[in-house]
Amino acid sequence: MEPQEETLRRLRSSFLAGRTRGAKFRFAQLEALARFLEENKKEISQSLKMDLSKPQFETELSELSLVRSEINLALSSLGAWMKDEFVAKNLATTFDTAFIRKDPFGVVLIIGPWNYPVHLTLLPLVGAIAAGNCVIIKPSEISQNTERLLAEHLPRYLDKDCFAVLCAGAEDTSRLLENKFDYIFFTGNAHVGKIVMAAAAKHLTPVTLELGGKNPCYVDEECDISNAARRISWSRYFNAGQTCLAPDYVLCTERTRDRLVKALKATVREFYGQDPKQSPDLGRIINDRHFRRVSALLSSGTIVTGGQTDEAEKYIAPTILIDVKESDPVMQEEIFGPVLPVMTIGGLDAALEFINKRERPLAAYVYSSKSQVVDRFLEGTSSGGFCANDGLLHSTLISLPFGGIGHSGMGKYHGKFSFDTFSHHRACLLRSDGREKLNEIRYPPYTEQHLGM
Ligand code: NAD
Repeated sequence: MEPQEETLRRLRSSFLAGRTRGAKFRFAQLEALARFLEENKKEISQSLKMDLSKPQFETELSELSLVRSEINLALSSLGAWMKDEFVAKNLATTFDTAFIRKDPFGVVLIIGPWNYPVHLTLLPLVGAIAAGNCVIIKPSEISQNTERLLAEHLPRYLDKDCFAVLCAGAEDTSRLLENKFDYIFFTGNAHVGKIVMAAAAKHLTPVTLELGGKNPCYVDEECDISNAARRISWSRYFNAGQTCLAPDYVLCTERTRDRLVKALKATVREFYGQDPKQSPDLGRIINDRHFRRVSALLSSGTIVTGGQTDEAEKYIAPTILIDVKESDPVMQEEIFGPVLPVMTIGGLDAALEFINKRERPLAAYVYSSKSQVVDRFLEGTSSGGFCANDGLLHSTLISLPFGGIGHSGMGKYHGKFSFDTFSHHRACLLRSDGREKLNEIRYPPYTEQHLGM
């Protein structure tokens, strides 16, 4: 395998030679990426099956179609996005031309996670290509089958002197990060996010950090409980709960709890049958370490549904916990598995206080049929994104920015936001070398007249 430094040198020299700058090149690479997805659809599905037992529908919805839409949007909008943006001028620059040029950063590093290993690696890649950068893609080594597939097949489609896939574990990635990149786009947990940011700081490299956290979900007394239960369960158990945007815990009043838990239990049965282990629609935990980590959280509170595990299959049943205390292990860390704690609380004010005591999450959810409750929840919380009366779905709209705040990350992407993230917005002013009479008034020696200007 080529040493990391050699790959970087090759990409940098392509960038400096201007290989990625032209619109034609960018279009061609985006089209090639679309072909990669189309021609390797079966292999992608298979590798996701091997890594996460991902159901085909979930692969189609959350891994393939979102990347396809992103590519299609970039292809249809790139011409407009790349155009210089002319801006307002002041008196001194009336006769000049002032504009924003969207320059590529240079060589970008994209570090991906394992839970949506195609989507979360290729979606930022679309933005980086559209903006005219060279890219090193570093997929997660944990989702090893998908990592292998990306490393073997993606380079067959993209320009080899401008794009490369590097396979690396934590140690090799740390070494890679010692190099100077022009932009780093990282998706993963906050602990590693800090490592990446510290490494980037050594070179003053800008970063986007897409991190996780505990996403709250408040269920109001006045809401359609049965619909809420279905939507909460779907968003919690999708990808076996290994979703950065999944509702991590539910807050509701005593009066709502029993109705809600009854509806959630019914929903789990409706979605996954009497024995969810036999359901083809429930994924598995990625590896033994995460299996043990999530299994240990099952000792918090009381299990009212699920709780069964099978280490050999890395299976954890869709589980609902009640009587959970704030100090329980399940409330200390992001669950990232098919476990849903339901906690009771005094009402909306108490829920807002509970949520605001914690780090700011990637998503905040509220279920209520009253717009005043939705508005107060939206006003009273801070999070990367927000969705009322559903889960995950706001992230499927590429007209909305996607990203965290505080501990859930910094920066944003999707659609045009991706293009902007991977572009340096360069302030440009073109002046004439004549018209000196107009300029004279600002030169020294300064007089009383200058002060009156
Ligand atoms: P992770 O942080 O363990 O790994 C992410 C990447 O970092 C991998 O490619 C890995 O190889 C690399 N890495 C790991 N240790 C490293 C080190 N010491 N130095 C340098 N690189 C290192 O994250 P994960 O377990 O793959 O993903 C789960 C986390 O990611 C969860 O917290 C989840 O919420 C978050 N996440 C966030 C989003 C989002 O879009 N905001 C999406 C998916 C996952």
